[in-house]
Amino acid sequence: MTYRGRFAPSPTGPLHAGSLVSALASFLDARAHGGSWIVRIEDVDAPRTVAGAADEMLATLAHFGMQSDAPPVWQSTRDAAYQAAFERLQAADLVYPCGCTRREIADSLVQAHARHATLAYPGTCRDGLHGKPARAWRLRVPDGDAARIRFVDRWQGPQTQNLATEVGDFALRRADGLWAYQLAVVVDDAEAGITHVVRGADLLDSTARQIYLQQCLGAPTPDYLHVPVVNSASGEKLSKQTGAAPLDQHAPLGALIEAARHLGIEVSADTLDAFYRAATSEWAKRYGPDAR
Ligand code: GLU
Repeated sequence: MTYRGRFAPSPTGPLHAGSLVSALASFLDARAHGGSWIVRIEDVDAPRTVAGAADEMLATLAHFGMQSDAPPVWQSTRDAAYQAAFERLQAADLVYPCGCTRREIADSLVQAHARHATLAYPGTCRDGLHGKPARAWRLRVPDGDAARIRFVDRWQGPQTQNLATEVGDFALRRADGLWAYQLAVVVDDAEAGITHVVRGADLLDSTARQIYLQQCLGAPTPDYLHVPVVNSASGEKLSKQTGAAPLDQHAPLGALIEAARHLGIEVSADTLDAFYRAATSEWAKRYGPDAR
């Protein structure tokens, strides 16, 4: 097996202490396995993309000693690949157009006394649009036992999600015409030959959807490892919206030592080289190929 890992930031602002943890964990895991590590710029959500943010992120990563082993992939250039995957799913009768607005979905969930009122799409348009114009396109999820997706996360342990009751048929193409993150990430991971996904635990909940999509597209399922997210002082996930400060490009070492500490790794080092040597060896003890 040739290990291929990735860091896939959305360029919605500069890198901060939270995104550094995901970058570092994915980088250390790749190095601990003697594998390669690539950066993918997840700018599929054009309205959220901030001009210049991706280049700034790549420059910061370079200052912090993390260089993509291959030229970064930009999702904004990959429309044809997403379209081709979508057409394959369409040919297999796995997708259907949906005319529901958010409001209508919320109302029908309230009427059905659904427990996961904000999560599971109730399947209103499965059998047709009922005269409404098509807005989004959804992937049909299986019913019954087949809806239960199980995987073992290398950090979080065994996971189960019932796609039918907890998620419902999910969007592959959004009402605004953009490709959904779930489709883009699965197509891109498959094409890049990603064997190991290491990212923040806020994406744990998306993993079952991605595994199911891989199965629909005949793509292999990578190993997953979700690291704890960094929270702001008020307990929310650290992000630009919750006031995360951009990383100082000129002071990488302190921020790296802090990110490693968040991952349970204590290292002291005077240089980037010494930091990566020590941190990779500590990571390998827990998550390297010989650790299991
Ligand atoms: N672009 C996503 C984010 O920044 C990460 C996607 C992934 O790692 O699968 O939250």
